[in-house]
Amino acid sequence: MKIKRIEVWEVKMKLREPYTIAYETISSADNVFLRMETDKGIIGYGCAAPDLQITGETADTVLKACQDSIIPRLKGVDPLRMALHMEKLKKIVPDHKSTLAMVDMAFYDILGKVAALPVYKLLGGFRQSIKTSITIGILPVEETVQKALEFMKAGFKSIKIKGGSDVEEDIEKIIKVREQVGKSIELRFDANQGYTVEDSLHFVESTRAAKVELLEQPTPRGKPGQLGQVTQEVSIPVMADESLMNLRDAFRLARRELVDMVNVKLMKVGGIAEAVHINSVARAANLEVMVGCMDEAALGIAAGLHFALARPNVMYADLDGHLDLIDDPSKGAVVLKNGILYPRQEPGLGFDF
Ligand code: MG
Repeated sequence: MKIKRIEVWEVKMKLREPYTIAYETISSADNVFLRMETDKGIIGYGCAAPDLQITGETADTVLKACQDSIIPRLKGVDPLRMALHMEKLKKIVPDHKSTLAMVDMAFYDILGKVAALPVYKLLGGFRQSIKTSITIGILPVEETVQKALEFMKAGFKSIKIKGGSDVEEDIEKIIKVREQVGKSIELRFDANQGYTVEDSLHFVESTRAAKVELLEQPTPRGKPGQLGQVTQEVSIPVMADESLMNLRDAFRLARRELVDMVNVKLMKVGGIAEAVHINSVARAANLEVMVGCMDEAALGIAAGLHFALARPNVMYADLDGHLDLIDDPSKGAVVLKNGILYPRQEPGLGFDF
């Protein structure tokens, strides 16, 4: 089997509602889609969600990397030798993680279609569905409570609240949301690097009664010692997100026992194959994995979901990036019912244009 043609194109999607996190406000998502056609008529799809702050890419640099470096090298090669191709591409565009994730996705999509299996079964098929959290960006206290109630009504069992710019307000929000949603909803909190060690300890201490499930990336990614200190001193699990960008980070975080959990996003680590490696390091070190996402089309969410379903150690999902997108061309690539995500039981990633 040979790759006959590769096309890439940009898709600009507006968000139904802009949202704010500790360091920016986001109102739209620029994704890039890739279509990889083989000489046997099998077609693989992938998408990239570049993010200047996190992956250092924009849609333009993704397109350029594809046109200049990736497409010329993949034309005519056997797509079933993806480990070989990805190894080469990683050296050529090391700083284009979401671009690499997009290519990796298309390879897995083709592999699944050749094997006539959904990717999650091909990778182990540990579970058939997973609960996802839904995120509330930084909003005033009352609006946060209203949003939480809305999401609960819509069937979500897990809510992730963003904060990190005002610890006192964050504490108030958590306490008020817990009062209103009751005990049955899980509350996760993501400070997006906005806290000091002292803020983090104060936050956990003050929200003890509200039973926060986990604290995500409280301190800056350039200060691993701070993250380790928070992990040592608080009673709830601490998770690395921005501090985990690649396999080496996973090993470093594990070896120095800096966290209890890691948030693996395909777009920041470079795809499913890399995520599987990171998961193995995490499992060896007794770290649980959450699969997270960027503002990405349902196709990207599907890839994250297939990874999460495949492996026992991926215990948590935060796969909500597609829910607020208008005009997502891959809408329907995953199925959401009552806060639970299901894959489409089709070969590959389960989506065709
Ligand atoms: Mg995060």
